[in-house]
Amino acid sequence: MQTRRDFLQKITGSVIATSLLPRMAQALPLTTRPYEGPVLRVAILGLGSYATRVADAMQSCTKAKLVGAISGTPAKLTAWQAKYNIPAKNCYNYETFDQVKDNPDIDAVYVITPNALHHDQIIRVAKAGKHAISEKPMAVNAKEGQEMVDACKQAGVKLLVGYRMHFEPHTLEIIRQRKANQYGKITFFQGLCGFRIGDPAQWRLNHALAGGGSMMDIGIYAVNGARYMTGEEPSWITAQETKTDPVKFKEGVDETIQFQFGFPSGATASCLSSYNMNFLDRFFLDGTDGYAELWPSTGYGPIKGRTNKGELDQPIVVHQTLQMDEFADILLEGHQPVVPVDGEEAIKDLKIIDAIYLAARTGQKIALNL
Ligand code: NAD
Repeated sequence: MQTRRDFLQKITGSVIATSLLPRMAQALPLTTRPYEGPVLRVAILGLGSYATRVADAMQSCTKAKLVGAISGTPAKLTAWQAKYNIPAKNCYNYETFDQVKDNPDIDAVYVITPNALHHDQIIRVAKAGKHAISEKPMAVNAKEGQEMVDACKQAGVKLLVGYRMHFEPHTLEIIRQRKANQYGKITFFQGLCGFRIGDPAQWRLNHALAGGGSMMDIGIYAVNGARYMTGEEPSWITAQETKTDPVKFKEGVDETIQFQFGFPSGATASCLSSYNMNFLDRFFLDGTDGYAELWPSTGYGPIKGRTNKGELDQPIVVHQTLQMDEFADILLEGHQPVVPVDGEEAIKDLKIIDAIYLAARTGQKIALNL
């Protein structure tokens, strides 16, 4: 009698490959099956420190692949070609990158340059007919943000923003629990975001390139977090700025801003954005029946969360790997994320930041209707 083992030993490798493997694959759990779906082919524009972090993380992506690079520095392009196996034909500089239009091997361009450059660069990407991904802040004010959204709409491409926390498991679990009413009626959010910034010559302290100071860079996490943690849009804003070092933090570059939101439900938020305080990376959400805390809340991780019921035990992920795979799902398969990552979402943050700066400048309480 022929046993199953005899049978398997007798048949050739090619038979296994052609007839048995597909059925074996069907029997495998989903996670061990090789991915066979569409892959998002991405070029990164601006090869600085965060771009390098994204490129490294993309090496572990399943659905997104780094295939191109755009830089003003030829040596960086050569180094990226070697490090990430990028073909020379997918490399451009800031003068030539509009030619990406004629490159069928690139689906999207991810802009990771200083904040004030995103506007023009994203519009050029849109005009080249490629999906556009911008780092945060998407622009330096809501007007420029709207122009970017309009350009992408007109070109028929999608615009996404690198809101990596929108895919982070602890964050999503708290949002799920809040939606399930586990915390009761939300009453208060606190967002503390800041670090002591170093080199005074860096672009982050140059208004022309940064569009502001700590608010644009790190305070935006508290702005955005206040919205996704409470599930509401602020209807009023107040803000106060303090500056201890006017030499380092020049006119138009905020060192520290405290800001407060009121929400239509009656909940409030109190937040702090600073370039001059360390260890600020904490979100706290309070409700009538419970609370949630993320601490650290927006750093590269590991993110830690707990609620009134105890520690959260969500998986620890590489934010940028997860983000790029999720972006592939959104751009190629029309997936809708739990918290939006599109240009309209970014414009809301920019309208709020515009209002925070206005409130800090004038001392007025600013009404908003987002
Ligand atoms: P960086 O200074 O390390 O890199 C900026 C890159 O832009 C460099 O390669 C630089 O050569 C290039 N560049 C092009 N034109 C330039 C010009 N005129 N002046 C200066 N540099 C120019 O900065 P980074 O930390 O990589 O930040 C880039 C963007 O990424 C910013 O918008 C920042 O807010 C965002 N960022 C996001 C995260 C996140 O977690 N999502 C983290 C860090 C930075």
